[in-house]
Amino acid sequence: MHSPAPIAVPMRSLSFGALVLLIAATGASAQLPLVTQTPPRVDVISSDTWLCRQVATNLEEATLLGTVILGRLERAQPHLSTETIQFRASDNRLGEAIAAFAIDRVGGVIYVSDSIDGSTLYHESTHAMMLRLTPDAARLEMARVLAADSTGRIEADLIDLARRSFTLSFTASANPQLWGLVPMVLTSAAFSDSSTAGTLARLIRATDSAAVRLEGNVNKGWGRATIADAYDEAANSHWRYAGIARPESWTWRDERTFRLIGEAVAYDRARRCALGY
Ligand SMILES: [Zn+2]
Repeated sequence: MHSPAPIAVPMRSLSFGALVLLIAATGASAQLPLVTQTPPRVDVISSDTWLCRQVATNLEEATLLGTVILGRLERAQPHLSTETIQFRASDNRLGEAIAAFAIDRVGGVIYVSDSIDGSTLYHESTHAMMLRLTPDAARLEMARVLAADSTGRIEADLIDLARRSFTLSFTASANPQLWGLVPMVLTSAAFSDSSTAGTLARLIRATDSAAVRLEGNVNKGWGRATIADAYDEAANSHWRYAGIARPESWTWRDERTFRLIGEAVAYDRARRCALGY
């Protein structure tokens, strides 16, 4: 999607170029050219990095900071729909989470706590942008991240953060009476898997069975609705928000996997933004 321009690299090649010129000139003639050099500012940081390092201490500041961050992400992907995202105070509705992106009847909403940093807003904005991808782009992104997971190319702590965020949202899609039980069922299913598969692949396998067995938070009015049904509903709002008809081939499993890899992508991009690479 968007990565901040690497500033150190062009600057280094620039001064190397100047050095080559200087040496060439020295070799060609006994006269030294008059060179006025300004040393490169190695401490310069890109504006994305500057934004990711700011801290908002109330809803108004979070809205300003989040709107600027979202605007920069949107400019990097001008072909996507530009539905306005609202910022709302979380009012302690997030449980363990400090922020969340949700799609309600009106559209996309980023819920924020009292104090929130730019990189967390970048994380949530990444969710807001990813859920607007076309079906093909979404499938490509899933394939890319799962391939990286299977060959251990994603840092372990990023995978762990993604696992925790995903488990929270998986739990929230269950019947509230099961909330204490769900993380345990999921974690033990994922880690009793004796294969050498990556953590994301294990979670996919574990949720494949848990989601169809455990009761969900969706009331279907007929029979028993499961967590899988909750993901199916989430897929409907996802494609409504994207402004694209839900593809027939897009199952609750695709929605689950897309939400799971979305966490890894959001943590990875927010970290790069804050660190400036
Ligand atoms: Zn997230």
